[in-house]
Amino acid sequence: MVAVIGLGNMGLAMVRCLSGAGSPPKGWDLDPAKRAAAAAAGATTPETLAETIAPVTILSLPHEAAVAAVLEVLLPALPPGAVIVDTSTLSPGAVRGFARQAAQAGCAYLDAPVSGGPAGAAAGTLAMMIGGDADALDRARPALALLSAKILHIGASGAGQVAKLVNNLLVATHLVAAAEALRLAGAAGVRADALLPVLNGATGRSAATEVNWPRWIASGTFDSGFSAGLMRKDVRLALAMAEEAGVPLDVTARAAAAWEALTSVPDSADFNRVPAMIAVGATP
Ligand code: NAD
Repeated sequence: MVAVIGLGNMGLAMVRCLSGAGSPPKGWDLDPAKRAAAAAAGATTPETLAETIAPVTILSLPHEAAVAAVLEVLLPALPPGAVIVDTSTLSPGAVRGFARQAAQAGCAYLDAPVSGGPAGAAAGTLAMMIGGDADALDRARPALALLSAKILHIGASGAGQVAKLVNNLLVATHLVAAAEALRLAGAAGVRADALLPVLNGATGRSAATEVNWPRWIASGTFDSGFSAGLMRKDVRLALAMAEEAGVPLDVTARAAAAWEALTSVPDSADFNRVPAMIAVGATP
């Protein structure tokens, strides 16, 4: 049995995937409406967080404070040897602290941030970047295999978050770069619908041009399930990691600044709104 704590865009998609694979999980969220949606998707939804226990517990929470609050209740309730697999995007320092706290309670905590969004979670095709103990990963692996096409053990506690933050700093940068390139081409007389097939058949391509633009921006759907606020959180965490590591950033830091500065796109909006605005000439 698996439990999923945090039933937002990602957590609910994980519930759907696990239920569809014949392993309906337990589910918990602070928001009763999210618990009701998870119940409709096949989850068992106990009355309290302390009752939402399982040998493998997946967290999908927005920030460090939420994880700290959940662990405070969960760790005393979990059986010895239980594995917490935290798919939230957090700082490497925070997750190392959570792993120590779990070890003191006789449990294991893996940082396991993911790539692939709600669509990947629902389809069971996430890429998971794991930091932490290999034996604990082996105990959780059968459950994680239902959600992930790629389970990558990167290294010790915190290594998964390092990989995830570097990945998302690149995504944020690629999106800003693609937006500027499309704006330039448009101003010089070549429209996006003519340019994108060129880029995607040539060496200028990236996930920004191959996935984000056709799927969520050019289509006008803006329904990726990943908010601008969460992307801003990720770039902030990446910049803090660079400062801590003593690595000065130039191009990626400027792209990160564009995400922060474009305040006309609220945190609640789809993250693709930021490059879409830059492509039509918005400046902070
Ligand atoms: P979301 O805001 O849609 O969902 C977060 C859920 O956590 C909400 O339902 C909220 O009510 C719940 N929550 C908050 N505090 C809680 C608490 N103390 N106890 C129980 N529940 C609590 O966020 P999301 O898009 O599902 O993302 C979840 C995590 O996954 C984030 O860390 C995000 O950075 C990461 N992530 C998201 C995506 C994506 O595409 N959405 C992709 C990769 C990683």
